[in-house]
Amino acid sequence: MRVGLFGGSFNPIHIGHLRAAEEDREILGLDLVYFVPAASPPHKMEGELASAEHRLQMVRLATKGNRHFMVSDVEIRRIGRSYTVDTARFFRATLRQPATLYLLMGADAFAELDTWKDSAELMRLCNLAVHTRHTNGSGTSKDNRIAAARQFGYTRNGNSYVHSSGQTLTFVDTTVLPISATLIRSKLRAGHSVRYLVPADVCDYIARHSLY
Ligand code: ATP
Repeated sequence: MRVGLFGGSFNPIHIGHLRAAEEDREILGLDLVYFVPAASPPHKMEGELASAEHRLQMVRLATKGNRHFMVSDVEIRRIGRSYTVDTARFFRATLRQPATLYLLMGADAFAELDTWKDSAELMRLCNLAVHTRHTNGSGTSKDNRIAAARQFGYTRNGNSYVHSSGQTLTFVDTTVLPISATLIRSKLRAGHSVRYLVPADVCDYIARHSLY
């Protein structure tokens, strides 16, 4: 079984997340993709963060109806900061069938991977799948991604990269949707519509709970 783990603050979840996960699933042949909302993301400012329960609920609403999409509340139930390495260890220990794990992330997240807790162990625990992300960050260009891959100890093997542990790194060419949760929050703050940027149920949920 091939399982993808897709972590994020999902503050809120939007169609950029959903489409990237769907294309990663299709291209990598994943059986399941687990969306894992962070309780307390180490790299984010807390001021604008909706409660973990609200973000979890929005992820549930957004993913229902896709039989390949699962939602895990493991980071929300865990006390303290949410570290992906702890989540990868948890999935390694608890998945019932032997599984190949893929950690899904955008190129912006990959560019910062060396700042993540125990990133070297994370690269030994799972395969990495890095999909396209439109940002102005210099770390997201293809040359920079390849340089980072080498620096992290991956060597090229055909279309992907292999770590000394045997785990792989794949750059997945997904449709670029230049949408971020920051954009959605700023539209909401300005009183603008976010319809069609987030699933309809998420749009209704935000309005009903007066989020952002
Ligand atoms: P914010 O704007 O609040 O920083 P975000 O939109 O970047 O949030 P996160 O929840 O921080 O969303 O992102 C979780 C993961 O989803 C990251 O790996 C990120 O690269 C990826 N991601 C976010 N938006 C997109 C998008 N539009 N297309 C592809 N991947 C995305």
